[in-house]
This record gives sequence, C-alpha cells and structure tokens, in this order.
Amino acid sequence: MTFSHWRRPLTWLLAWVLVAGAGSGWLAHARLLALEDAFTVDARIVHRLLSQRAVQHDAVMAMLPLLQPPAEGHGAKTAMPLPRLPAAYPQIVEIRRRLPGSIWPADWPQSRRTALDAAEARSLQSGHAELAQADLPAGKVWLVLAGRSTAHALLLDLQATVPWDEWPMDAATSPVRVQLQYQGQAFDVQAGRRLEYGWHYSFHKLLASQSQPFDVVLERDVGWSELPWTAMLVWAAASAAALAALRALLRQRVAARRAEELLRLGQVARLNQLGELAAGMAHELNQPLTALLASTQAAQRLLGEDGSDEEPDLDTARHAMSQAVAQARRASAVVGRLRRVVERPDLSGQVQTLALAAAVHDALHLLEPELRRRDIAVHLDAPADLPAVRAEPVALQQIIHNLVMNALQAMEQTDAGQRRLLLLTLSLMRPPSARILLSVRDTGPGVSSEARGHLFTPFYTTRPEGLGLGLSLSESLAQAMGGDLSLAPPGEEPGAEFHLQLPLAQQP
Ligand code: ADP
Repeated sequence: MTFSHWRRPLTWLLAWVLVAGAGSGWLAHARLLALEDAFTVDARIVHRLLSQRAVQHDAVMAMLPLLQPPAEGHGAKTAMPLPRLPAAYPQIVEIRRRLPGSIWPADWPQSRRTALDAAEARSLQSGHAELAQADLPAGKVWLVLAGRSTAHALLLDLQATVPWDEWPMDAATSPVRVQLQYQGQAFDVQAGRRLEYGWHYSFHKLLASQSQPFDVVLERDVGWSELPWTAMLVWAAASAAALAALRALLRQRVAARRAEELLRLGQVARLNQLGELAAGMAHELNQPLTALLASTQAAQRLLGEDGSDEEPDLDTARHAMSQAVAQARRASAVVGRLRRVVERPDLSGQVQTLALAAAVHDALHLLEPELRRRDIAVHLDAPADLPAVRAEPVALQQIIHNLVMNALQAMEQTDAGQRRLLLLTLSLMRPPSARILLSVRDTGPGVSSEARGHLFTPFYTTRPEGLGLGLSLSESLAQAMGGDLSLAPPGEEPGAEFHLQLPLAQQP
C-alpha cells in the first residue's frame, strides 16, 4: 500500500473533519451566545430588583422622622420600637434614633458609635441617608439619616433584602454567582458554581442608591459539558452520512463512465476485428474462387466437345456448369464487395496532436478494476516534458488497451506477488524522423522463440478463448498512423515487452 492508495480516503476524511468541525463549532458558538444573552438578561433583572430595594430603604429612612412620636421620658431616647415596620419590611432588623444631646447606646461597641457619628455628620452635609457601618460577610448594614435635631439609624439584613419571589433564577441550583461588593468585602447573595476551565461571563454595576453604594457582581462559568454535544454529534454523523453518500454517488458515476468507455472500446475492437476477419476471409476465399471459376469454365468447354463413346447428359451438365459459373461469379463479386468495405482504414486524415502519457493514463484508469482484481502493481515512467505525438485517439486507446490486456492475461500464470506492469515513454531523436516510444513490459511467461515469428499474423493465438487478432489489428492501426508496433528482443528479465512507436507532432 503506497500513499496514493490512502490519498483519496484521506481527502474524504479531511473533508468530513472540516465539515463536521465547522458545523459543530457553529453550534457551540450559538449555544455560548444564547447562554451569554440569558446571563446578561438575568444580571439586569437582579440589578434592577436589588436597586429597587435599596431605594425602598432610602424612602423608609426619609419617612422615619415623620412617623416618629415625640420622645418621652429618659428611656425613649434611643430605643425605638416600631413593630409594624419590620413586619412590612422583613429586612429591617432594628430602628434607632438619637435625640438631641444624647449619644448612641453606650452598650454598643465604640467602633459602631464612632461610625454612626461620622455617617451622621456626612448625612448632615449631603441631606440623604449615609452608610454608617457595613459588615458584608455577615450581611448586616447600618444606615444613618441626620435630621435637624434627631438622627435615625437602621440595621438591615441583606439576606432578607433579596426579593426571592421575583428572583429570575433558582438560587439553589443556578450556576450564576451573585455578590454585593463594597470596599473589599463581599456578601454572597447566591453561591453559584466555580469552574477552573471553560468560558467566563461577568457583570458589574453599582446599585442605584446613594446610601448603599454596593457593586452588584454576577459571574457565570460555562463548562464543556454545557456545549450542545448531542446536536454536534448528530451533525457530525449526518455530515459523515452525507459525504459517504456523495462519495458512493461519485464512485458510481466513475464506474458507469468506465463501463461505458469499455463498452465503446469493446465495440470498436469488435468492429475492427470483424473487419480484420473479413479481410482475412476475402484473402483466403478469393483464390479458390478464382480457381473454381477457371476449372468450371474449362469443364464446360470440354463437355461441349465431342470425343467420348458415351453420350454425356450434355444438357444437364451444361446447365449445372452454367449454374456453377454463375454462383462462382456471384461469390467472387460478394467477396470483392466485402473486401472493398472492410479495407484497412486510412487514419492519416484523422490523426491529431496528442499527449501519449495522457492516453496511457486513460487506458490504465479504464482497466483499474482489472488491475486491482489481479493484484498487479503498475509502474509508469513518463517524463513531464515528453513531446506530443500524432495519433488518432480511439486507435491509440485501442492499441494500448490491447497491449495492457495481453499483459494482464499473460500474468495470470505468474505468482500474485510478482505481477508487475511497467510502462515507459521516451523520445527517440533519431533523424530523419524523431519518434516517441511507448514500452509495455510485463512479468508474465514471455514469448517463446517459436511463437515470436507469428504474433502479428492474423488468427495466431495460444489462448483457448483468443481470436488472435488483437496484435495484428494493433499493428495495422499503428502503421495507419505512421507508427509501428513490435515485440522487443528478449532481455534478461522474464516477461514480454512490446514497443509502440509514434511520430512526433512536430518534427524537430
Ligand atoms: P489473443 O489475445 O486473442 O490471443 P493477440 O493477437 O492479442 O490475440 O495475441 C496473440 C498471441 O500473442 C497470444 O495468444 C499470446 O500467445 C501472445 N502474446 C501476446 N501478448 C503477450 C504477452 N504480453 N506475453 C506473452 N504472450 C503474449
């Protein structure tokens, strides 16, 4: 098996890889685009929902000074039970107020009190609520709004802030990671799924609230397992099936064309062989017929003379003789006509300029199944710069076909591993007429010295089913084109070698 045997299957395989790869790539790309679109839509919804909640908190804070009854007594300086507000807003854990002249609860950690004081100062300047203390990992956030005399503080539970009933994803199973980020801290709204490989989408946007400047961050990792493998496999299988069908169709067409060509060549061969046969018959028949004519005419003359004792049945004899003459004449005329009809074709008017190597390729292509069936290795040596020849295309095909077929038949007697057909073309630049030579050599039994002299004689054959006309016909065709066909003298290698010589298209 050489590379040329693999080239065609490899080309088909490559075509399939390209088609399957391009289609699967497109499917994967479309799926990734769809996943990214869905992610972006979800991210926008999440940002909008969380922003709405943040705005709600601002609104609640702005309302607190209005709802608050005036402080009474000492104990009501900071505690602020507003039982109905947390019932409506579950995220509000605690509401406090600081009355003028008092401080935030003394049992609070100092850091919280400092943070609330600082935020209150900022709020006084900005006129809106400010973020006082944020512990994002714990999900707890203090907001402060400074009033003219009284300040209000609100403790939020971020977990309860999330409106799960409107949430666009299933928090337990969704692969999307959602966080609120602020100054290096993060609150995990939804854990999602992290992957080390694959594709990564992300979304960042600040909450639309001045008091809660948290960054809403969504991330999504897409793994290989999320690609549309089934569709890709179906596509790969379908394209393989389509290419296989196309290949079968093309093969069928090549086989049909080859069969047609062989049929045509066979018809031409049969016609030519018939012509050859008729020419042989004409040659064989014409002489005895002429002799018959001469002798019957003589007999007729003799019968007509007196000289014997017995009375010949003259009338009958004369009648029979004249019949014989008439028949003989008719036969002679028929043969003459047949001969004129089948006379050797004059190809000199139909020759054209041809590339010999291409004709050899065509003939080999036609016989490829035969060669493969008999396991014959073909070696063709044709230089690329071989000059063109003058030949009639069909006659040239016929000759090469005959030579190759003879070689194939001869090699049936050779062991399978030893069967080689060697074709060689070269130019013979011998003045006065330069020629191109095609040598067809095989590794069959060769031609015996006894048979050498008869190969080109019509009807000479050693094959039981042979006609013995192939070589004589090929020789006449070659000669009709101004060329020649001969058997090469025996060499050292076993096998037979035939030489076809054809005139150059342009004499140097
Ligand atoms: P056919 O093939 O019908 O016998 P051909 O004229 O083609 O007629 O061949 C005549 C004979 O020449 C064959 O029967 C065979 O004996 C001999 N011959 C032709 N080609 C070869 C060959 N390549 N090797 C050996 N003998 C051959």
